[in-house]
This record gives sequence, C-alpha cells and structure tokens, in this order.
Amino acid sequence: MTNTWVKTTCAFCGVGCGIEARVNNDKVIVRGDKQHPANFGRLCSKGMALGEIVNNKGRLLQPYIEGKTTSWQNAITKIATDFKQVVDHFGSEAIGFYLSGQLLTEDYYVANKLMKGFIGSPNIDTNSRLCMSSSVAAHKRAFGSDTVPGCYEDLEKAELIIIAGANLAWCHPVLYQRIIAAKQQAPNLKIVVIDPRKTITAQTADLHLAIEPGTDVLLFNGLLHYLCQGNKLNNHFIRQYTEGFSLALQAATNEAHDLLFLAKHLAISSDLLTQFYRWFAETDKVVTLYSQGINQSSCGTDKVNSILNCHLAMGKIGKPGCGPFSLTGQPNAMGGREVGGMANSLAAHLEFNNPQHHELLSRFWHTSKLVKQPGLKAVDLFDAVAKGKIKAIWIMGTNPVVSMPNSQHVITALKNCPLVVVSDCMLETDTNQYADILLPATDWGEKSGMVTNSERRISRQRTLVKPAGKAKPDWWIICEVAKQMGFYQAFNYENEADIFKEYAKLTAFENDALGNNSIRDLDLSLLTDLTTQEYHDFTPTQWPAIKNTKQSNNKRFFADGKFYTQTTKAQFITVSYKPPVTKTNSTYPLILNTGRIRDQWHTMTRTSFIPKLCTHISEPYVHLNPLDATTFSIKHDELVQLTSNIGTLITKAKVSEQILSGQVFMPMHWTRMLASSGQVSQLINPNVDPFSGQPESKYTPVTISPW
Ligand code: SF4
Repeated sequence: MTNTWVKTTCAFCGVGCGIEARVNNDKVIVRGDKQHPANFGRLCSKGMALGEIVNNKGRLLQPYIEGKTTSWQNAITKIATDFKQVVDHFGSEAIGFYLSGQLLTEDYYVANKLMKGFIGSPNIDTNSRLCMSSSVAAHKRAFGSDTVPGCYEDLEKAELIIIAGANLAWCHPVLYQRIIAAKQQAPNLKIVVIDPRKTITAQTADLHLAIEPGTDVLLFNGLLHYLCQGNKLNNHFIRQYTEGFSLALQAATNEAHDLLFLAKHLAISSDLLTQFYRWFAETDKVVTLYSQGINQSSCGTDKVNSILNCHLAMGKIGKPGCGPFSLTGQPNAMGGREVGGMANSLAAHLEFNNPQHHELLSRFWHTSKLVKQPGLKAVDLFDAVAKGKIKAIWIMGTNPVVSMPNSQHVITALKNCPLVVVSDCMLETDTNQYADILLPATDWGEKSGMVTNSERRISRQRTLVKPAGKAKPDWWIICEVAKQMGFYQAFNYENEADIFKEYAKLTAFENDALGNNSIRDLDLSLLTDLTTQEYHDFTPTQWPAIKNTKQSNNKRFFADGKFYTQTTKAQFITVSYKPPVTKTNSTYPLILNTGRIRDQWHTMTRTSFIPKLCTHISEPYVHLNPLDATTFSIKHDELVQLTSNIGTLITKAKVSEQILSGQVFMPMHWTRMLASSGQVSQLINPNVDPFSGQPESKYTPVTISPW
C-alpha cells in the first residue's frame, strides 16, 4: 500500500483519463491527473468513484472447481490437463478464448501468444467485437491498416465537430467536457449531432439530425454527392493520394442525388440536411467523431467507410483539427487491437493474409504452430460452443451472458460446453454461474500494466494495494496454464514489464524487411530498448514515436498522403444503403435502440457496488414517446412487457420526448441477476456485419404492452 500520489489510468472508458491515487486509512482516494494529455485533470462521475471499487464487496477471492474452493495449483493443473485432452481428442480449434477490453496489454498479448502461437487455435476473440470492430474493418479497407488518424487535440483545433451515433456527454464525458470548453473558447465552433435520440449531447448541439435509425450511409452518400455538385472536392488530394473515387461517387449519386428523396428517407427536413452539408463543405477543419451508433449495425463497416469517403474527398485527414475519429468504448480496446486481440488479427498489426508476416511472427515466437487462418468472431464463437465444436472455453474479464446478443443462446452454449473457465475479479456475475472453473483475477488498483486509449496514447495502470484474497494478475494466470501445458520457455516471464518489453521488440522486429507500406515502419520502436525501470516510470506516450526519444512524432497519421495500402493510396469504398437485417412489421412495429447511461459501466458487475453511482438512475427502464404511449395504452412509470421475435422482458416505462415516435430505448447495463427481467440483450437478434462480425445492437423490432 502506498500513501503517496501514484499516477495511473482510469479503468472504465476508452477516453483513458490519467488519475492520481493514494491510499489513506485503507481507502483509495483519486483525483484527475493534470499532466495527463487525455483529461488535464478532469474526471467524470465513474472515474471519480474508482477508489470505491478497490477492496469493495463482491470480490472473487479464491479459485473454485465445480463450486468448491481449491488451490491455484489444482486449478491451473486441471485447466492445462483438460485443455491438452481437448487438443488431443478434438484438435486445437476445439479450444476457444473470449477476452475483454478490460484486460491490460500484457494480459492480451500472452493470451494471444498462447492461443494463436502455441495451442494453435485461432478461436480467440474479445468483447471489443461488440464495440468497434466495424471501425477496424473500415480502417483496413480504406487505409490498408487499422489506424486512427487523429488525436484529442484536434477537438480544440476543429471548427466543426460532428458527433455521429454517440452520446458523448454520458459515454465519453471527459471528451465532451473538452468540446464544451473548446466552444466556450471559440464560440464559432459548430457542433452537429447525428442521433435518432435527443440525448443530452444532442440538446447542446448547434444542429441535431435525428435521422431514421440505420440510414447513416444514405446521409453520408448524400454528402459525397453534394460535395461533388458544389465543386467542393479536393481534386488534387483525390488524384494524388486516393483510388476508387469514381465508383464510390457513382454509387452515392445513384442513390442520394435527390435532396427531397433523401430528406424523406432520413426523416429530417431538407433545410436541416442542407445546412449540415453546407457546413461540412464550407468548413476547413472538420472532425467526425463516431461510436456505437455507427459501429453496432449489420452494415457498420459500410457506415464507417461512408464517413471516411467524405473526409478523403475533401482531404480532411492528417491535418490539425481534421479527420474521422473512431471512439473506443473500453479502457484497453485499442491495446487489444495492437497486440492482435481479435480473431482476425495477429500481434503488432501483422496480418493473416501476409505470408511474410506469418513467417516473421513464427520466428519471433520460436513456434511452428502459429495459426494460418483467422478464427471465429464473437457471435460465431459462441455458436460453435452451442454446436459442440468448441469443447473448452476460457472467458476473461467479461460477462457475455449479458453483453452478447440473444443472451439465451449464450446460456445454452455455456450449459452444453464440457469445460467453461472464467477468470474475473467479481464473484457473482451472470456468466460465472456457468463456470466449471472460476479464477480470481486482480482488479484496478491491484494490477499493473499498460492501456492504450482512443487517440493511441499508451499509459500505465499502477498497483496501489495488495490483491484481494488470492487474486492474481491475468497475465500470470495465463502464463501458468501455458507453462503447465508444456510451453515453459515461451511463457517464463518474471513480471508484466518483461511481457511488454517483448511485445515492443516485436513491433520493430525485422521491420525493414516488411517494406515501406508496413504500419510497423511507424512503430513502438522508442520502446524496444525500454528498461524495467523505464517501464515502471513510463509517462503517457502516443505511438508512433521517434526512435530512441520519448517524443511522439505522429500525432496524426497520413499527413504526407501516404497510406498503408499496396499502392500507398487511400481507398474510397463503394457503399450503398442497406436496411437492417430484421425489419419492423405489424407484429413488431417499434425500433428498439440500446446504449449506456451516465453512471454505470457495462454489465454493472463493479459499478453496482458503488452507492453514489446508483443514485443517478437506479433501475432499468424503456423510453417511449408520448404518442406511442397513447397508442399502446401505456402510462409513465408503469411496468410494461417488451417483446421481440426472440425474447420478452418486463421493465418500467418512461414516457419521454427524448425518443421519437416509432422508437424505444433501453439501457444495456442491467442483468438478470440485478433486475430479474430487465436484461435487454435477451431481445437482440444476433445479426452481424458481414465484414466486421459486429452485432446489430441498435435496431431490434419490438412491440410493447402494459404488463
Ligand atoms: Fe474514466 Fe472515461 Fe470518465 Fe475518463 S471519461 S474518467 S476514462 S470513465
């Protein structure tokens, strides 16, 4: 325990705020870190409450096998033995891992190394699949790599900020505070919010476009056509630095050339639409922030590419105050992307479809078992568990029984799976109920490692107190299993610093051999000679950075017009509007939207234990418009039944003008354990985007009736 101020990083969202924390009379006190470039001292309600999760109630304190406490040695031996038997009898691919953006970079790295490099199974995915995988897929299509072009500083430099599909005020509060502060400094800064709901964020915008849910591609295709018609294109940029423009423009023009038609289908006035298009066309510095309203869709990748197309068409990328900007949900979703946390990527942005990358990673890890093909993405992974193809699954730091769509199917899958291992810091989660083996993991304040935020800034989470009970760091648990499985040499790390140093070395390993188009030309090379002391003293650093200095050299990517494609040119992607997979009809006439509330985090496994975070909104609810309340004979605060084609639940109705007629909204947080019938995921179809595999969590046809 330490009673001096320790610099660490928030464990909740992807803004990645710096925190200073100290222990006083066994209590952890936190304050915003004024030196951290993400927040400059600001914290939101969740960050302020972080101290209260340390040593709080409900922790998982020791390992369990089949509901009985056991020793670490027994638990590790059983997992290693059972995994080996599964591999021997059914093959490597019968093992699955499901990870979390709550894991630290070191945990993520060794989990991937074990699965993809040594067990030889590609079936390792992460809950980041539910969060920003559509952005990853779109970045790769347009830029040739999963690269976030801009940085937070652009929010203060922009003249127009577009916030698409994000309630920033509640979901990324400190970034919202930065934008509001920027507007106070520069009142001419305009803010446009694109969101079907009149959220707190939308209420403070200069322009709110409450478009019909799912029509974002139409909106941005209309913008691309408008830019062309008004001679607002950056023809030099398009000619010099991009490919595929004509086809993308043709598709946009075909479906979005008629403003009145567009306005009708977007369900907004043509005046509002024209104003948005004019502002985008006439403003020099434009940032488009986007999040789950864009990503969580059966055409999420196309939606992101429709945004990227517009920025490329005007060369609004790679410059101060300009660029498309994907906001990550979790504290280390970005770190997971970097170390290959997803089923379709390898560590250090190496790619499956590149034999040279495969050969290099095999040599670096000294393994002959490195998988050659991508594995199953989250929805398919649990489907394979349900079908008996996966015989053993290890879930780390996440609660898929609540967060996955069609949660009843996930329950069935886990009940049928011969071996379910769960490591978590909390004892009673909905997923833990189905675990054969439960492993206690360290929580924030106990663990130590790196996280990367939405603007590619790597920061340290540091240890403040001793682990609760027998809890251990995730990287330690994974490495112990790996060693018992016979991979001793590859997983014999002394500490988390050794793991990070190995990962950093990989980012520069034989970099020159990969040619000029490799993202690894701009890498973590400043960190490759990191000492353990430097690791411990590490200050927040945005990658990439200049070799052998501690300076970031690329706040923004693509300033030179060079992208990571074969031709070094950015790709316009031809996209056209596709309706959601499951459509409304006379039985299910309302569109159910889902999202977060201000003071809770994910499935509330930790935040529900903090009383002050439960006072803002204390129970699940469904928002519906007064017109629909009349149509369906529903009164404010009454219990209602909400039904989709796959499930039904009971919750409380809140009649609100924030939601348009024809739509309803429910928070994603509550679970069956917390509110027996308020878990929204039981209604959501497992429809996914064909490129990213991200589920369509923002559009579920439902009906509502008094209960
Ligand atoms: Fe933590 Fe996100 Fe709030 Fe910052 S904005 S304090 S990272 S929850």
